[in-house]
Amino acid sequence: MDNRRPLIAGNWKMFKTCSEAVETAKHLVKLVSTSVDVDVMIAPPFTALAQVSDVVKGTCISLGAQNLYWEAEGAYTGEISPSMLVSAGCRYVIIGHSERRQYFGETDESVNKKVKSSINNSLIPVMCVGESEKERELNETFSVLDKQVKNGLEGFSHDDLKTLVIAYEPVWAIGTGKTATTDQAQEVHKFLRTTLEINFGNMLAKSIRILYGGSVKPNNIVELMSMSDVDGALVGGASLDPETFSKIVQFQNRT
Ligand code: PEP
Repeated sequence: MDNRRPLIAGNWKMFKTCSEAVETAKHLVKLVSTSVDVDVMIAPPFTALAQVSDVVKGTCISLGAQNLYWEAEGAYTGEISPSMLVSAGCRYVIIGHSERRQYFGETDESVNKKVKSSINNSLIPVMCVGESEKERELNETFSVLDKQVKNGLEGFSHDDLKTLVIAYEPVWAIGTGKTATTDQAQEVHKFLRTTLEINFGNMLAKSIRILYGGSVKPNNIVELMSMSDVDGALVGGASLDPETFSKIVQFQNRT
């Protein structure tokens, strides 16, 4: 895996009130505080960010948001700016999750603007890409991913992308219980790294972390992480329960 430090990230989606989020974060801190040779990030809903930030401050757990808007401020009702996320304690932001693309009209172009504004505000972007079941059946996986990466990262220089994280999330594996096989994941991760190499050079391609997402659980994380181009996981459902998520975070104890 070269020298890439693993990242295990939890996307809480639209789950948990403020008090539930605080309780979950406190429990997780107890379970993983003495941890681990991996970076850990949790992304609660916007409403709970500031309170969860207080809970994870000084621990090995970083805070992330699930989305942002690219403008600094203005009349954009319902949107949240990068500096607001920073002020709430965020270090990471998930961008272009397939649920945002599917239900909220997010496109590669909006993803590109969001990645840009996150980098300009020193937030680490976790840019999600992935093919649908139909696209995989039609053998379009690589062309879809190539387009998502190229368009999402258009106009960036090598230096801009030093902190970028990519999450490969096959849409057919999200919340479905279906996981890509380790070989399928490795094949796509290798393809993504080659695409990065062609567009931004070998040094950057080798340093960028590519996470796998899609029904990651304690019972499949070890095998996924044994793949040379899998550098971590973006975990949805299994990140909501601290006991389960901590087992994923501590996958190295079982290798
Ligand atoms: C996700 O939401 O990013 C995700 C991968 O969900 P799940 O782990 O539930 O499939």
